[in-house]
Amino acid sequence: MSGNRLENKWNAAKAAEMSEPEKLLYRSNLLGSDKRITNYGGGNTSAKVMHADPLTGQMTQVMWVKGSGGDVGSIKMDGFATLYMDKLRALKGIYRGQDFEDEMVGLLPHCTFNLNPRAASIDTPLHAYVPKKHVDHMHPDAVIAIAASRDSRAMTAQIFGDDIGWLPWKRPGFELGLWLEKFCLENPSAKGVVLESHGLFTWDDDAEMCYKLTLDIIQKAQDWFAAQTAGKPAFGGAVHSSLGAQARRDVAARLMPVIRGQISNLQPMVGHFDDSAAVLEFVNSANMVALAELGTSCPDHFLRTKIKPLVVDFTAAKPDVAATLAGLAAQIAAYRDDYCAYYTRCKRDNSPALRDPNAVVYLVPGVGMITFAKDKATARISGEFYVNAINVMRGASAVSTYVGLPEQEAFDIEYWLLEEAKLARMPKPKSLAGRVALVTGGAGGIGSATAEKYLAEGACVMLADIDEASLAKTAQNLIARYGADVVRTVHMNVTDEAAVIRAFAEAAVEFGGLDILVSNAGIASSAPIENTTLALWQKNMDILSTGYFLVSREGFRLMRAQGMGGSVVFIASKNGLAASPNAAAYCTAKASEIHLARCLALEGAEVGIRVNVVNPDAVLRGSKIWEGDWLEQRSSTYKTDKEGLEDMYRNRSLLKRSVFPEDIAEAAYFFASDLSAKSTGNIINVDAGNKEAFTR
Ligand code: NAD
Repeated sequence: MSGNRLENKWNAAKAAEMSEPEKLLYRSNLLGSDKRITNYGGGNTSAKVMHADPLTGQMTQVMWVKGSGGDVGSIKMDGFATLYMDKLRALKGIYRGQDFEDEMVGLLPHCTFNLNPRAASIDTPLHAYVPKKHVDHMHPDAVIAIAASRDSRAMTAQIFGDDIGWLPWKRPGFELGLWLEKFCLENPSAKGVVLESHGLFTWDDDAEMCYKLTLDIIQKAQDWFAAQTAGKPAFGGAVHSSLGAQARRDVAARLMPVIRGQISNLQPMVGHFDDSAAVLEFVNSANMVALAELGTSCPDHFLRTKIKPLVVDFTAAKPDVAATLAGLAAQIAAYRDDYCAYYTRCKRDNSPALRDPNAVVYLVPGVGMITFAKDKATARISGEFYVNAINVMRGASAVSTYVGLPEQEAFDIEYWLLEEAKLARMPKPKSLAGRVALVTGGAGGIGSATAEKYLAEGACVMLADIDEASLAKTAQNLIARYGADVVRTVHMNVTDEAAVIRAFAEAAVEFGGLDILVSNAGIASSAPIENTTLALWQKNMDILSTGYFLVSREGFRLMRAQGMGGSVVFIASKNGLAASPNAAAYCTAKASEIHLARCLALEGAEVGIRVNVVNPDAVLRGSKIWEGDWLEQRSSTYKTDKEGLEDMYRNRSLLKRSVFPEDIAEAAYFFASDLSAKSTGNIINVDAGNKEAFTR
């Protein structure tokens, strides 16, 4: 456990200006800003506040409490549910007992104050019946380590004395709310309670005091662990050594696509790799296998991570990735069988159907932790949750015996009908959800428009480009709109074989594999044949022809290893079909791309890799090609300037329309998505109509 001090960030002057609900928001955001205080999405906060009833004008007590979903660190005012306290109290009169506690959730909307649309969470009764104005419920690793220890009751008493009580494990719900009330009434001077295998409750009648109390209690737990564990090796000491940093990524890059291919039968999964010090300490330790088998403890940990991880058979001292890969299918199948057996053992008559039986967390000795989920943020957060679990196991196993939740309890939470209802309410996934795309020339006009379209449809995108400054700028723009989880960049020259190989390994380690390759990086050049130097000819061939070959080859290798098919989209050119004056090198190289696509469509079909071509023409806006020499050369060929050229191309087109990068992106999306699942070896011209380029 970290002995670092938690910082009291409360600004009294700032808080003095705030209403009670605003102070609750302030306190919640401060608490959630430190992952040692609570994990992502874990825990909740509340305040009981007097408000005028909108109908009668009479003052009434209203509870503001974090609503269903969301995270206290980033919650905004509209994330809180508001409920009449007198109605919440009245619920106690109609409660039919433990076997019927789930029906109480359906009654919570009847207690809503002021038509607030935010749904109240199942934790609402845990706050309502604590007879104090402010309540914090947090999931600090240091306290969960106590809560998940075999002698957690005695430890709680030893560390906190009479200040903090202890309650045995009970699934959150109405009954636990009543237990908390009973505890408070019987122990009026207690400041909080540790819930076995779950977390911490603290309370006070003042918002600032409640915040301070929460920090003090967590600090006390951290300090206690620091003192108890000083000098002791964690998890029984190390039995494996970590590979070097690059070697760890290299191994992960080879394992992840193969794992992904075997666990994406229900939906394409996205991967996340973590080789932080805390993870390596655990995966290298003597007790890792035994502890991993016990499963995680805090309920929201294993809802994200599944009850236990899969330990990949890899010998860090004698790395043999090929042998590990060869054994993976059997390991993954064994995990699935084990999970199905757990489902069959624990299921009840009305349990929801079996969900995806594959592991979420993969531990690799000497290498790190790989997590997979339906999207990148969920994969990352699942990894963070397992790090929480590691912290808990480190603490608990150092001072006591770590205990996971009893299997049936774990199952009842995982397959809780209320949880199932929440899943059923989730919006339909976007068309490219879970897909990973690599776009070469991703910092350019057409590349960035294509990346944006894919991101908008739910894909993760690796932007690869030779221009580092533009790459950083493009990534910044896309991250601002789609978030940091789904955008990555790699500096790559498509003519450099080693750099291309590295870029695909980066995509594999950052997102878990590859579904869509857009080969787009390019240049344009113009010169009459007599003035075309060998160097100019070679440059076109290198970047366009050879570059497209190199990225396709690596894309094929990765997609084949993954075994999920894929889509390769070439951004070629109208000039690859139709000859154009004074551009022989460019036109010939573009023609070579188109023919390469046809050959690859033949080779890829048997493994479901589709290869198609989009041919743009005259996309002047947003394109860097149309800023340099090419612009001057084309202007001089057609004796006009940039505006004149745009007009000239528009008027030359059959449809008399200009073509924009977004138009090319639409075609690149069609070929990337399942809309074109039955097309390969095809060409779409996006050129506003040009009879020279009609395909036949
Ligand atoms: P752009 O210049 O805006 O983008 C091209 C990107 O490729 C740039 O970011 C550049 O840095 C990158 N790049 C160049 N050489 C590279 C290399 N060796 N390795 C890695 N990256 C490299 O141009 P655009 O208009 O977006 O062009 C994209 C593709 O579309 C090109 O293949 C181009 O030939 C083709 N195309 C464009 C037009 C048009 O009118 N804009 C017409 C037909 C075809």
